[in-house]
Amino acid sequence: MTVSLHLPQGAQRLLNAPVTHLIGGVHVASESGATFPTINPSTTDVLAQVADGTAEDVDLAVAAARRAIAGPWKDLTPGERSKILWRIADLIEQHAEDFAVLEALDTGKSVTMARLVDVPLVVEWFRYFAGWPTKLVGESIPVTAPASPGKYLAYTCREPVGVVGAIIAWNFPLLLVSWKLAPALAAGNTVVLKPAEQTPLTAALFGQLIQEAGIPDGVVNIVQGTGESVGAALVAHPGVDKISFTGSTEVGKLIVHASADNLKKVTLELGGKSPNIIFADADLEAAIPGAANAIFFNQGEACTAASRLFVHADVYDQVVAGIAKIARHIKIGDSLDPDALIGPVVSSEQLDRVLGYLKAAEEEGARVVAGGGRHGDTGYFVEPTILVDTRPGMKVVDEEIFGPVLTVQRFETTEEVIEAANDTSYGLAAGIWTQDLSLAHKVAAELRAGSVWVNSYNVLDPALPFGGYKQSGWGREHGAAVFDSYTETKTVVVPHQ
Ligand code: ADP
Repeated sequence: MTVSLHLPQGAQRLLNAPVTHLIGGVHVASESGATFPTINPSTTDVLAQVADGTAEDVDLAVAAARRAIAGPWKDLTPGERSKILWRIADLIEQHAEDFAVLEALDTGKSVTMARLVDVPLVVEWFRYFAGWPTKLVGESIPVTAPASPGKYLAYTCREPVGVVGAIIAWNFPLLLVSWKLAPALAAGNTVVLKPAEQTPLTAALFGQLIQEAGIPDGVVNIVQGTGESVGAALVAHPGVDKISFTGSTEVGKLIVHASADNLKKVTLELGGKSPNIIFADADLEAAIPGAANAIFFNQGEACTAASRLFVHADVYDQVVAGIAKIARHIKIGDSLDPDALIGPVVSSEQLDRVLGYLKAAEEEGARVVAGGGRHGDTGYFVEPTILVDTRPGMKVVDEEIFGPVLTVQRFETTEEVIEAANDTSYGLAAGIWTQDLSLAHKVAAELRAGSVWVNSYNVLDPALPFGGYKQSGWGREHGAAVFDSYTETKTVVVPHQ
């Protein structure tokens, strides 16, 4: 296509031909023949043309997934499923550079971050979940009612839910593939995956490797296209048993409504407006870079982004000056520049959205201490921005921006900051910086958030449950907890006299 960079072979090969769907083990164009372009947000060049799916393609993919769940996938032992997941991890590791470069080109994230964070985490996720198929056990349970205590043998077993529709966002495209597919497959489900239309590339490369890993045809299907077309068709499809979604709270609500007809199981990992609290006794050498990284990582395009910073009055000036200095010096650049830590935001829509919030902040009286606008005039770059004199009621404080924009508020008392931190409709994550252990535990207990990081931030691990309170989601991903939503529990009762 228009890319003339020197790319690793696998990445270049993927870009040399139109990107297809994967349906029933076959790489196919859309039934309609339609395609859409995917754009490099650093340059606005077209990277590739991508199959633009419709409900027809979704029908075929769901049919393939239904056949696979009744057939080859069901017949594999847990141990065999385990080996396949491990082989997927090995293959991703072997193609790590292809994945990192494609991810950087498609999302705008820094290739250095893709190499150091995204791709190694994906490998880790598949390895962790490769251990689970052989450990998904039921239990035997004593029966005391009705009138014949002890006369029944009762046990539970865990079975796959069935066909999982996995709909994912564009900020961590490959990582989200692993978050959905590794547990879904470990539990014996089959999947129809819909990548975000802004970032189809790494899922497409993933789709080319899984057959080599031994995934039977139809177990993983990938349908590319828009949310309104492919996503909505998946959510409405009677052959889909569960939807696992990562994306905006707004679309999460649409999905809940639209999936009601056949009462699909639904899990949602949605937005956030996460508070990060720096107490007066915090180790500022760690807290200042920690708070900067917690918002600017991935250009702020992270559902856990710590976008509301609360700083104790005693250290407020020092912290704001420290973070502003970092914001002004972070290297912004083309996603393939290995020295750049911040790339462009993903799309022109996202650029407009973030700039719209900055304009609203100015109108509402916020003061800019770093950044505050677009960076350059090619590509979709936004300056890392710090806003002070912000307060609840301002759009930048209340709404998720999904960009490199931090609001800072000053506090005096612990009670006051807990109340302010919880004053949001979201509840995904939170950070606490203090050297007082009992204060840390007290505040962690009071915060209404699914993950609370103390003197750290964004520590994500396949073993640690992750998900949202309030409007940040339904259910938990990762760890043992994820299997609550990827399995059905069957109770079997047998009289034994
Ligand atoms: P963002 O605001 O981060 O772009 P979205 O929630 O819009 O996130 O998108 C996340 C995923 O949801 C994408 O794959 C998108 O195509 C999909 N999507 C968008 N609208 C719908 C819908 N009405 N039904 C199902 N999926 C949708």
